[in-house]
Amino acid sequence: MCGIVGITGNKPVADILINGLKRLEYRGYDSSGIAVSNGGLNIFKAKGKISELENVTRGENLEGLTGIAHTRWATHGPPNVINAHPHCDGNCDVVIVHNGIIENFTALKTRLAASGHEFISDTDSEVLAHLISEYYEGCLEDTVRKILHLVEGTYGLAVMHADEPEKIVAARLGSPLVVGLGEECNYLASDVAAILGETKRVLYLKDGDVAVLTPDGVDVTSIDNVPLSREINEINWDLDQIQKGGYPHFMLKEIFEQPKTIRDSFRGRILPELGDMKLDGLEMSDTELREIKRIVILACGTSWHAALLGEYLIEEHAGIPVEVEYASEFRYRSPVIEPGTVCFVISQSGETLDTLEAMREARRRGAKVLGLTNVVGSTIARESDAGIYIHAGPEIGVASTKAFTSQVTILLLLTVLLARRRNMSLVRGQRIIKELELIPEKINKILEQSDKILEIAKVYKDVANFLYLGRGYNFPIALEGALKLKEISYIHAEGYPAAEMKHGPIALIDPDMPVLVISTSDGSYQKIKGNVQEVKAREGKIISIVSEGEKEISEMSDHVIEIPESLNMLTPLLAVIPLQLLSYHIALLRGENVDQPRNLAKSVTVE
Ligand code: GLU
Repeated sequence: MCGIVGITGNKPVADILINGLKRLEYRGYDSSGIAVSNGGLNIFKAKGKISELENVTRGENLEGLTGIAHTRWATHGPPNVINAHPHCDGNCDVVIVHNGIIENFTALKTRLAASGHEFISDTDSEVLAHLISEYYEGCLEDTVRKILHLVEGTYGLAVMHADEPEKIVAARLGSPLVVGLGEECNYLASDVAAILGETKRVLYLKDGDVAVLTPDGVDVTSIDNVPLSREINEINWDLDQIQKGGYPHFMLKEIFEQPKTIRDSFRGRILPELGDMKLDGLEMSDTELREIKRIVILACGTSWHAALLGEYLIEEHAGIPVEVEYASEFRYRSPVIEPGTVCFVISQSGETLDTLEAMREARRRGAKVLGLTNVVGSTIARESDAGIYIHAGPEIGVASTKAFTSQVTILLLLTVLLARRRNMSLVRGQRIIKELELIPEKINKILEQSDKILEIAKVYKDVANFLYLGRGYNFPIALEGALKLKEISYIHAEGYPAAEMKHGPIALIDPDMPVLVISTSDGSYQKIKGNVQEVKAREGKIISIVSEGEKEISEMSDHVIEIPESLNMLTPLLAVIPLQLLSYHIALLRGENVDQPRNLAKSVTVE
């Protein structure tokens, strides 16, 4: 959840650490801190954004060739300077940054306090610094390996000791860490984005790994000190992909990137002549694909909405029963996994802890697990039996946009792959591919309406509630539209199947209640007209997303956004775009930070 950066080498580290934190700020941003070894361990911390940390450190002595830094997403204790990381022991000999939760910290703290340790913060993490100082006998990695046996919970951890000034010890259990290899300089980060400007040669630590970084090299062992070798990977992302490229916000950049990112998701995977798909990453033969009896899709948040669309698509076109589960619920229920069940696991970051743990549970119960992730080399990508990368490129805006449309694209490809091995005809497959190839251009046409959507946003920016309605494929889009608005504008918004409105939410409709209706020309069109009338009869305001040229709903609406026609199964890729733009404009008009909405973080690596 939080961001960790560490460097040890032959050049001053402070600026590189702070720049690295800025690239990680989307992961957690309530406070931050830095520790650099120069004689002793110098620590600076600030509440708020990384720019506050820059203010605090300006003019201070932060010279030094080894250091660690952190941007926090608070789990234990409010975001303030004391609770910000790094944390140290009483003498400031040991300094740590931690991502995750130490579940038995109260017991450990009580024990350490009884032997004289004084704690100053409310965090669970501080206990790690005191534990290390309690057990330290001259070798930091030995101590870290020892204390980790006493710790219950999850951690991405980086530790330094004043007596070993050129060393960083890192350990991982449940929270990602990547080691970057440079020339006489080595790097540590919770996300490659932090160190991309310095090196592209990285190795990913696995759960249970302890790494020792010095300027001369990196050694990885288990926590029982068994030497391990980890493969070196070359990163193919560029620095400009994680910069704003002229847009005022990452979210807007990512919304506008979608014509390209959707194309990147299907490029090389469509077989237009055969009306078929090629998803080699699945590593499944035609026979294995035909033998799938049931599909369970596990996800959280926006990925869960993509999953729900996946259910509608696969059941309709491939006739395979699909169940979509919140990953966090699946793990703690007793889910039934029968032979022939395949589990798809969707997570943009590939690090979402709820989803990762649900995937592990599904595997324990005998399911084959297939990952749909964006981040290459992420934990879910590595631990799944096989999978598909969505290729959306780095997504920095906390509210997911382009990753969602790429996830949906992959689920569409998957639907055709499964359906063509069952009863979908060649001609149908060819038609879908032809229409899919037109989607990026159609999205461009919707993006051109951004200014018009801004005008609608101005009308509704101050409302307290919003209702989003859709039927069929547009129902998951209604859910996603409502979530987007909630996440970044803090307006209460609900997504509902349009017909369900009369079973409760209709009580909310009054002249102050905007209702956004997604109604493209599919089989439910006639029905949704009735739902719109029900809102109108109660003087609710209607914003409608309709197919180009539509008349009847448009006439009943206060505002209309037209989207190009496409196949029903593909319209969600179009219908979601105006909803993303509407949320963006409303949030901005309300003065909110669209890229870093309050209380949220990008990759949720706590349960
Ligand atoms: N549990 C720790 C805290 O509250 C770490 C949070 C984080 O991952 O940023 O400080």
